[in-house]
Amino acid sequence: MSNLTTEQTINLSKTKVWHQLTQHAAFDAQDPLIMERGEGLYIWDIKGNQYLDASSGGVWCVNVGYGRASMAKVVHDQLLKLNFFASTAGTPIAAEYADKLLEKMPGMGRVYYSSSGSEANEKAYKMVRQIANQKYGGKKSKILYRERDYHGTTFGCLSSTGQEQRRAHYGPFVPGFVEFPHCCEYRSQFDSTENYGLKAAQAFEEVVLREGPDTVGALVIEPITAGGGVITPPEGYLKELERLCRKYNILIIVDEVVCGLGRTGAWFGYQHYGIKPDIVTMAKGVASSYAAISCTVTTEDVFNLFKENPEDKESYYRDVSTYAGCTSGPAAALENMRIIEEENLVENAAHMGEYLLAQLALLKDQFPIIGDVRGKGLLLGLELVKDRVTKEPVDESVTAAVVGLCMKQGLIVGKTNRSFKDFNNTLCLSPALTINQEQADTIVTKLAQALSALPAV
Ligand code: PMP
Repeated sequence: MSNLTTEQTINLSKTKVWHQLTQHAAFDAQDPLIMERGEGLYIWDIKGNQYLDASSGGVWCVNVGYGRASMAKVVHDQLLKLNFFASTAGTPIAAEYADKLLEKMPGMGRVYYSSSGSEANEKAYKMVRQIANQKYGGKKSKILYRERDYHGTTFGCLSSTGQEQRRAHYGPFVPGFVEFPHCCEYRSQFDSTENYGLKAAQAFEEVVLREGPDTVGALVIEPITAGGGVITPPEGYLKELERLCRKYNILIIVDEVVCGLGRTGAWFGYQHYGIKPDIVTMAKGVASSYAAISCTVTTEDVFNLFKENPEDKESYYRDVSTYAGCTSGPAAALENMRIIEEENLVENAAHMGEYLLAQLALLKDQFPIIGDVRGKGLLLGLELVKDRVTKEPVDESVTAAVVGLCMKQGLIVGKTNRSFKDFNNTLCLSPALTINQEQADTIVTKLAQALSALPAV
């Protein structure tokens, strides 16, 4: 634990650390918000101010809440026993967690470990590319991704991310990633929203046909788009995407980095929609960010494509990440799952999510600036507009002002990045899955106070 004084912390944070997603001129000029301690849904900054954290650590991570002694204990015990060995043959704890995780994912067969969401997606993309090279003579190497989805920070992930603000400055990108249109009904790109799910899926099919189905190896999607605006899939959309993928022999990669491990009121987001993915990636909630662990989970069919072929000894998956051998990850993940099961947190997320969504809908009746309220489980969004009829988004500064006003009330909410066109107008709520009704009411009350305090736009 750090022994720095508050002043030393602020000074060193301003002079020595390069912060992420931060404009440093502004950061240096302000009194920065530095967090020090957490307990349940609450977090305290270095000056002792308490906040109700409706963002689970700013980026939808801390699913079981802060300050869990049992998480610390299992990691402590595991580290003393064996902290690491290269993940070529695994460890007992890695084997135990894989077995436990697969119980929650009928139809899936193998767990491949790494330590961040981006890495988990890169692993999936490398699998697709190796299958294309080994099985299809280099064809079927393209990966289709969706406008507004985010898949991570590395070059493969950025090349498959449909958010302009994230990509700006970093081209040229990796070839072979192709974008298809988003599925946000509120921002419909069609004349009518009738059969919107089918229309949005047809837009995917058009891209497949344009590129040539024999060149397309996989599709990657977030089951519910998180940072791109909290977008739930329209009725029938994912089932139709699945049908099209099967028709054109395209693998389905589902990015559950945010949605996984109970966040949406099911163990995994895709499970709400009855689809059967080929590859599922996850991070954040896997160990509620008590340890850095991510997983790329595949069906046994996908795995078997890499099983040693007697005629080609090089056909196995030739990928390795050092930290896949850290045992702190699976130790924390196993305890995380035990907590979720014992405290019925998946059910609580579903139940409290419905409650919060209903309360936010009431808030929408009160505040015309709220154009749309949407989400599933404890992954919720409020899209802010200047005008409900034209749906013109509020300026970025307004979204930031609401976040700041919430902070002043002791409430932490998230917001999207400029994910779509120039929009940065969605507030995001993703509290820990342990949330109770009183805490949900506090979130809504403080949000209402923040919106009331907003100067007219
Ligand atoms: N996929 C999604 C849907 C994400 O939201 C994120 C991170 N916000 C990632 C992948 C990348 O995860 P990481 O930051 O752990 O690399």
